[in-house]
Amino acid sequence: MAKLTFKTDNCKGCGLCVDVCPKDVLRLSPEKINKKGHHPVEAARPEQCIGCGSCAIMCPDFIIKVER
Ligand code: SF4
Ligand code: SF4
Repeated sequence: MAKLTFKTDNCKGCGLCVDVCPKDVLRLSPEKINKKGHHPVEAARPEQCIGCGSCAIMCPDFIIKVER
């Protein structure tokens, strides 16, 4: 299982990372609102992450860090 970390307060909730993940790991938090007023990304199923890095590459704001 890879380690995922998020700069949550800078996420703009665009969902690009959610859509690109092949393992359906990510979601936009239904409850949380960050400092920018967006629902930020979170790992709903972190145990499914294969560490492919696609989410980190896709994010325009470099919010996601993937460590294998
Ligand atoms: S590294 Fe790959 S599998 Fe893991 S959350 Fe990102 S896109 Fe999904
Ligand atoms: S982490 Fe990046 S790609 Fe994912 S929702 Fe936030 S801003 Fe968009």
